[in-house]
Amino acid sequence: MKIITSIQELQSELRDKRDVGFVPTMGAFHEGHLSLMRKARENNDTVVVSLFVNPLQFSPQEDLDKYPRNLEADAELARAVGIDYLYTPTADSLTATLQTRIVVEGVSEGYEGKVRPEHFSGVATIVMRLFLIVLPEHAYFGLKDLQQCAVIRTLVRDFGLPVELHFLETYRELDGLAMSSRNAYLSVEDRALAPLLSRSLRCAAQSISLSVSPSEIEHFLAKERAHLTSKGFAVDYLDLVDPDSMKSTRVTNDDVRVVGAARIGGVRLLDNMPVFPSS
Ligand code: AMP
Repeated sequence: MKIITSIQELQSELRDKRDVGFVPTMGAFHEGHLSLMRKARENNDTVVVSLFVNPLQFSPQEDLDKYPRNLEADAELARAVGIDYLYTPTADSLTATLQTRIVVEGVSEGYEGKVRPEHFSGVATIVMRLFLIVLPEHAYFGLKDLQQCAVIRTLVRDFGLPVELHFLETYRELDGLAMSSRNAYLSVEDRALAPLLSRSLRCAAQSISLSVSPSEIEHFLAKERAHLTSKGFAVDYLDLVDPDSMKSTRVTNDDVRVVGAARIGGVRLLDNMPVFPSS
């Protein structure tokens, strides 16, 4: 595996490569990241993983400075998966002279977009920048960040980008907590409570799968919101959404998911569950 920082060097390495699979990340790898990398490894001749803590997607009061960084450990994990190129751009090389921002309207606006207004513009801008550097045939994203998937899908569709997107199910700890680099911020007590979010989303999803009326659906969502609040969570939202439009819905179909974001002890947890799991 080569670790590459320069845009020119990466582009010259990739010039003759066909069938490039790409996994954009912010590092601090866990099994969720590794599952995307393994899928990319299985399906492509050449695999590029980017590791870039994207300053454009953090608001000034967020955790950019303390976001976990450990290049050596990450490089070891990526090497073990058999990644060809670990691309570790400097922030300057991607953003210093950038005067352009991409705003994906509609799907960016609710949920995370309400709580973090600049976030998806920062994501879309840097993902576009990375796509144009790597020019992958295939790119891999986690459904853990459901709204991010909708933003990238819309970006690729709107600009007709020649990349095939793959969205993979969330990798979880044994107790159900969705893996996330930010779980490292949880205190021991909050780590014990954290799986309650995934449990509430699963309970709501199961109840909704058996529900017929919008008022029943509303009832189950409200019940789980109240349950989490009673356990000490500050719930930002817990809702049933159409993952294509990222609009709230009270009508079920095969694709709908229950999304939730809640804070416990200052750490914000984000998760979602399918109402009708495919397997
Ligand atoms: P991040 O480093 O947090 O930006 O994540 C990089 C990629 O890994 C994104 O596409 C995430 O959606 C995905 N990802 C993060 N956590 C998980 C998880 N627990 N399971 C599967 N994919 C994940």
